[in-house]
Amino acid sequence: MPPPTSTTTAPTAVADAGVAGVAGVAGVAGAPVVRVFVRARLLTVRAGAAEAGGLTGGIDRHDSIAAVDGRIAAIGSQDELRRRFADAEVIDLEGRLVTPGLIDCHTHIVYGGERSAEMERRLAGESYESIARAGGGILSTAAATARLGESELAAVALPRIDALLADGVTTLEIKSGYGLELEVELRCLRAARRIAALRPLSVSATYLAAHVVPAEFPGGSDGYVERICSQYLPAVAASGLADAVDAYCETIAFSVEQVARVFECARVLGLPVKLHADQLSNMHGAALAARFGALSADHLEFSDAAGVAALARAGTVAVLLPGAFYFLRQRQAPPVRALRQAGVPMAIASDCNPGTSPLCSLLAAMNLAAVEFGLSTDECVAGVTREAARALGVLADRGTIEVGKSCDLAIWNVEQPAALVYSLGGQPLHQRVWRGGRLPTCAAAPSTVR
Ligand SMILES: [Zn+2]
Repeated sequence: MPPPTSTTTAPTAVADAGVAGVAGVAGVAGAPVVRVFVRARLLTVRAGAAEAGGLTGGIDRHDSIAAVDGRIAAIGSQDELRRRFADAEVIDLEGRLVTPGLIDCHTHIVYGGERSAEMERRLAGESYESIARAGGGILSTAAATARLGESELAAVALPRIDALLADGVTTLEIKSGYGLELEVELRCLRAARRIAALRPLSVSATYLAAHVVPAEFPGGSDGYVERICSQYLPAVAASGLADAVDAYCETIAFSVEQVARVFECARVLGLPVKLHADQLSNMHGAALAARFGALSADHLEFSDAAGVAALARAGTVAVLLPGAFYFLRQRQAPPVRALRQAGVPMAIASDCNPGTSPLCSLLAAMNLAAVEFGLSTDECVAGVTREAARALGVLADRGTIEVGKSCDLAIWNVEQPAALVYSLGGQPLHQRVWRGGRLPTCAAAPSTVR
């Protein structure tokens, strides 16, 4: 790591706030909580910064941030902000690189059981599709998930979530989808909300409505889609537990027509959509996602030129999931060059799930995206900040370091932004800051499940 250029301790710096700091951002007795983070090398990742000359050019000329009640109130020089916010708590970042807090915009991190035995079967030559058709895969996780209550589902996810926090993640998308039946799906979505209360991070919850057809469901996949549209989706929308609706468009899952039906219902209910598209075959899922103005189309290994053009026209984010590509030993990478040329925003996510991407590291996903898919280091950093925020529809609030946004920061013990992509397992995080509170890394985060 690059040691800080100076070891001077700011006179008013305080110890890590820990859990109290999480609550403390709301203020004490109504007084605003004001913090000034000084002597940072700020990689703002704001639009235009990278284009102006790469990420090095994107390092802001200012070195300090003022946060009031968790929002970025000003970006400026240390002298200016110390003067302007004279009573603020000052936190000296000692010359470290600072990026927006990382955003993992695609995970299935809440589930029961584990599927390491399937890895052995796949290593022996069996395909993912074959295991799924034989009753393994998603259905086995669904059975294990149905056996757990809401607090247990949250508890078993916490070690995986803590691993992501240790990578600097401050916002996490969590999909349901292993519940299959309404009651269990709602339980998974509540577990996602519970996790947001147990750990210092923002959670976007997605109802993965059409994931897999439950075994022996009356009417098969058409019958299940009918049930989703007539009962499940309206109930989920009424619960207020979901921020978006997702589906899995694939030969082993749901057809374009079935997904379109689900998306029509979501549109009527006012919920944005996103799609698992073109992962194992070209189902024209990218075009389907674009047709519904989806927030994102995810995977895209088999998307064609027409699909890429449709995403560009719709402004839909391409979420690349190199963990699944790697774990399934796929050979066809997503059309990154075409996406780049068409100006489709590209995000990167862990896709943390028990079957195809048991990956609890967003930094490792960045490395895989660079090595396996050919993304530049600039694209990787933007892919887990600005573009990931765009994929969740929260770019106005997060994803870049700009005045008015939530003060979510990742502070790094590396010299160059490229080092975040370059290494695997180096644990480069110095500290996370979530909503302006100064937080310890996850090792010291609260571990009690309430
Ligand atoms: Zn997924």
